[in-house]
Amino acid sequence: MPDAKLIDGKAFAASLRERIAAEVATLKADHGITPGLAVVLVGEDPASQVYVRNKGKQTVEVGMESFEHKLSVETSEADVLALVQKLNEDPAVNGILVQLPLPDQIGADKVLATIEPAKDVDGFHVINAGKLATGDSSAMVACTPFGCRMLLDDTLGDMTGMNALILGRSNIVGKPMIQLLLERNCTVTVAHSRTQNLAAECRRADILIAAVGRPKMVQGDWIKPGATVIDVGINRIEGEDGKTKLVGDVDFAGALSVAGAITPVPGGVGPMTIAVLLRNTVVAACRQNGHDAPDL
Ligand code: NAP
Repeated sequence: MPDAKLIDGKAFAASLRERIAAEVATLKADHGITPGLAVVLVGEDPASQVYVRNKGKQTVEVGMESFEHKLSVETSEADVLALVQKLNEDPAVNGILVQLPLPDQIGADKVLATIEPAKDVDGFHVINAGKLATGDSSAMVACTPFGCRMLLDDTLGDMTGMNALILGRSNIVGKPMIQLLLERNCTVTVAHSRTQNLAAECRRADILIAAVGRPKMVQGDWIKPGATVIDVGINRIEGEDGKTKLVGDVDFAGALSVAGAITPVPGGVGPMTIAVLLRNTVVAACRQNGHDAPDL
């Protein structure tokens, strides 16, 4: 069988950012609105610092305003909540993102619950999770699963009746993915650490979403021939040359000759997350200013 088609998330994200930049330019020219994204980083976790830097850079590149709030690792919960409240009330801020994980003294649930749902561009607030679950189109949808569905829409078109298997049930990936695939009329199964006969479950899937955080766990012979595989995993492992490298949750080499299409790691789902964050910020800015949200 020929090798699977590669789903190029990097290129898709770049084209999405171009469309976002055009939308931002129109908002500025026609309405004098510059969408603004505030990112709050508490502490100095190296991975979080890289994410926040990339978010800020890409926000500015599409013509939006970036507000970065870097707080010391000792910051109290009360101070973070006060900052979020201030951002909620600031009309220049259309989207608020608090980078996770937070230090132990700060309750992430409490912080996320304090973000104004209309500005919750990460889509983690229970109001937005509930809106997504009940089919309310005003939901802000979590960026990574939303990005996965964009790639699936682009690769497969109509997904009606397809069997989709989501491996992982986290609030940020697995659970929102359920709703997003139900919206496309898939028959959705969710697998997790207590699932029995995992390989057999995976083998029934026309669409396989792997979001487990376990390097190369999904083997080639777990994949139905011709299936579309979306690998959300980002795992850092030591390569044969002793250097660290990124791998997904799927054994890419083993999957390549079986799957019909597959996202590589890196360059698949990863680049979509920030692009969707920017998309959500533009949509939030339009709604907060009483304009129709663009179809991005
Ligand atoms: P998470 O919160 O740790 O959830 C992992 C899920 O996988 C859980 O539901 C867990 O089951 C399940 N699981 C763990 N081990 C398993 C096993 N041996 N067999 C079956 N299921 C198993 O992870 P997450 O935040 O969803 O992230 C998943 C992966 O995606 C990570 O590699 C993460 O880095 C990556 N990620 C990437 C992006 C991006 O591309 N921008 C964004 C978010 C996450 P239980 O619920 O039973 O424990």
